[in-house]
Amino acid sequence: MSQTNPLKLIPSVDKLLSSAEFRDTIGVYGHTRTSESIREYLAALRVHVRHNHDHPIPNIANIAVTISTSLEAKNSSSLQPVLNLTGTVLHTNLGRAALPASALEAVTRSASGNTNLEFDLAKGKRGDRDDHIENLLCELTGAEAVTVVNNNAAAVLICLNTFAFGKEVCISRGELVEIGGSFRIPEVMEKSGCTLRELGATNRTHLKDYANVINENTALLMKVHTSNYEIRGFTQEVSYEELAVLAKEKDLPFLADLGSGTLVNLENYGLEHEPTVQEVLKAGTDVVTFSGDKLLGGPQCGIIAGRRELIDQVKNNPLKRALRVDKMTMAALSEVLKLYRHPEALIRDLPTIRHLARQPDEIRSIAEKVLPAFIKSAGDKAKVSIIPSSSQIGSGALPLDQLPSFSVQIQPITESDSALQQLTRAFREMPVPVVGRLHDGALLFDVRTLDECELLIDQLELFSWP
Ligand SMILES: *Cc1c(COP(=O)(O)O)cnc(C)c1O
Repeated sequence: MSQTNPLKLIPSVDKLLSSAEFRDTIGVYGHTRTSESIREYLAALRVHVRHNHDHPIPNIANIAVTISTSLEAKNSSSLQPVLNLTGTVLHTNLGRAALPASALEAVTRSASGNTNLEFDLAKGKRGDRDDHIENLLCELTGAEAVTVVNNNAAAVLICLNTFAFGKEVCISRGELVEIGGSFRIPEVMEKSGCTLRELGATNRTHLKDYANVINENTALLMKVHTSNYEIRGFTQEVSYEELAVLAKEKDLPFLADLGSGTLVNLENYGLEHEPTVQEVLKAGTDVVTFSGDKLLGGPQCGIIAGRRELIDQVKNNPLKRALRVDKMTMAALSEVLKLYRHPEALIRDLPTIRHLARQPDEIRSIAEKVLPAFIKSAGDKAKVSIIPSSSQIGSGALPLDQLPSFSVQIQPITESDSALQQLTRAFREMPVPVVGRLHDGALLFDVRTLDECELLIDQLELFSWP
């Protein structure tokens, strides 16, 4: 009895490539990638068939679907938009500040062609990329000069390296903080080539503690805004004013790492006061560093503002070249800063401020808008309700400040940890993943930061509840 060798039934690469079923795939992914993908697929199929002569051999149409699905999966980017409903407005893991529309347009314009990034159009000569934001930042902060690097960690690194390489930096023990896992002041100090001279006690530091450790090797006084934790009780720290006076007396520069670095008084929005860049400079601080994508609400960058002579030293440090920002960041930053010239409009035009300032009434009405879609989608699988909750600023700013908010609360009918985990994962697997937080055996979606209600409602309509 003769049986056809099943391997002979597998179509050839050429047959597949020339078939009508593959025309679209070749159109989208090209001949080279499609044929590579077919070759890999057929090699695997041959192995299966060799081991199991009964292994089914798919027809050309099925093979075409498999190949195009796999090419599509390989082509999709891992970086994608998500809806941040965690209740943390500036969520570092979710990319921090959302940029305003004007900044997005500027990014597109600058990235789609050439720009005068480092070209002085008036003089027809080489320019400095800081020129595009320096005047604006000086105007807004009161600084004499400004430069911008890749993030605030880079700003601290280059300042320490510029002002105190091979020398000592005086800093209070209460300010030797760790920010977001890998950024620890003592370690950054070491990598910058400086020696840390810690002083005072964790909870209390006095002006005389600084004066006592200053010696001929001291190059810099530093103060770090302990933005992500607060020491309460029997505490004492030395003010910016006092340190500025001491620094002047000893002829040393005084650097403040502000972290969040807001340009507006947050009390205007019902939040607690956070020292502004203007205030800290006015207190006599020589150089201030802060993030672009925290309370400022802009792109990731680190801003260094202060006395011209010191900023010039930073600009001339060879590290500046390694830490500089690109044209897209400059374009976005410049647009965000322009919004600060019209502070009353910030609450409307700058997403970070809009989200932080959102009042409970408005948040509740956003929750009410999306509630029916949640209820309909959940059916009898979960209880859905609106509950008061609290949001936080995030990225280390005002860690104890809880902002009154509202959340859509989802409690799966099957009360188990695994049901809750499964539900949380299903939301993360939506076309635009939705990220909430778990609290008290329920999944919470804090809608303070929700601007895309329609998108969420559309997704809920297509959602298959686990
Ligand atoms: C956030 C923060 C940093 C690091 O800033 P990035 O912009 O995240 O690099 C440094 N210092 C302080 C005090 C901070 O809060």
